[in-house]
Amino acid sequence: MNTVDPQVETVIDLDAIAHNVRVLSEHAGDAALMVVVKADGYNHGAVPVARAALAAGAAELGVTTVDEALQLRAAGIDAPILCWLNLSDADYAAAVAADIEIGVSSMAHLRGVEQAARTTGTTGTTGTVSLKVDTGLNRNGLSATEYPLVLAALRELADEGVLRLRAIFSHLARADEPDHPAIDMQRDRFLDAIAAAKEYGLEPEVVHLSNSAATLTRPDLAFDMVRPGIAVYGLSPVPEISDFGLRPAMTFQARVALVKHVAAGEGVSYGHEWVAPRATTVGLIPAGYADGVFRPLGGRIAVRIGDLHYPQVGRVCMDQFVVDLGDNIDGVREGDTAVLFGPGQPHPQHWADLLGTIHYEIVCSPRARVVRRYVGDFADRKGGV
Ligand SMILES: *Cc1c(COP(=O)(O)O)cnc(C)c1O
Repeated sequence: MNTVDPQVETVIDLDAIAHNVRVLSEHAGDAALMVVVKADGYNHGAVPVARAALAAGAAELGVTTVDEALQLRAAGIDAPILCWLNLSDADYAAAVAADIEIGVSSMAHLRGVEQAARTTGTTGTTGTVSLKVDTGLNRNGLSATEYPLVLAALRELADEGVLRLRAIFSHLARADEPDHPAIDMQRDRFLDAIAAAKEYGLEPEVVHLSNSAATLTRPDLAFDMVRPGIAVYGLSPVPEISDFGLRPAMTFQARVALVKHVAAGEGVSYGHEWVAPRATTVGLIPAGYADGVFRPLGGRIAVRIGDLHYPQVGRVCMDQFVVDLGDNIDGVREGDTAVLFGPGQPHPQHWADLLGTIHYEIVCSPRARVVRRYVGDFADRKGGV
């Protein structure tokens, strides 16, 4: 095992995750928390995040695929897990055997789960489904035309003991605009969908609608459970409104690989887009677009070394970029840690603003060579990670 500090890493603060879960719980009131750990926990590591979140009071976990759910089970996590985006030929047998709750968005999905429940191992195994109803996002979810057909079919399968209805849920299109009438329209359709299920004698154990933005800004929509994702990782879903006291959990950092002098008039990095206006010192940061440092950020960002910020100059390359240290009276040296983004400054939101995207995409980008490391009390606990 390599004991040298990695060249480039994300440091994940699990205490920040726990803190954010507690903040969200306060906003959720009596509603339970399903913490969303899809996409490997928004690239923070699904298993450690899930453990920290559950220890901090989350009740359930939400993921996209059956595979993601099975990975959590394989790590020994026995909390309820819902997965909501699969093809109808997904490995539902494995999901049923592992007691995963399956989000159903079409009749084909329902039939897929039915088939799995009928054929899985011991007779009498019941598959657990949650109906994902499309209330206006028009993406995943049961359409208005298929919904009654699925309700009728599920009624029979529930009577037969093949499937159990756990939840009815839906997803908001414009939750980051808390006063937008589309939210109320979706709420009304959601209530109609719950009422329609009751007409078929189907009573869900829980219903849920809110993502992070709605959890934090629309307490009236909390229902039985909320499903925050991004806020768990400490990033505000509505930064223009507030940071809600959330703490960003990810720090993206690299160690300075080289410090050297560059003469006045010398061009730096491909294309010589930056030419040293004076004799200066530059630092080489071994992280590039292959690691999640977007190339269009070239010449527009800064890194923090110690307490000081240094401008990045010239093009971002595949594996590296250069920062201008000036006369380097601060004494930056090879091996020092340069923070690309994290809590404080630079913040992922700044990268997002420069790129015309959202911070969700920024934290999902460090990859491949980037080593992930965990800090905080939750990381130190035995079996914590
Ligand atoms: C990703 C996702 C969430 C979480 O959304 P955030 O904006 O990250 O809080 C909740 N529900 C569903 C169905 C999702 O796909």
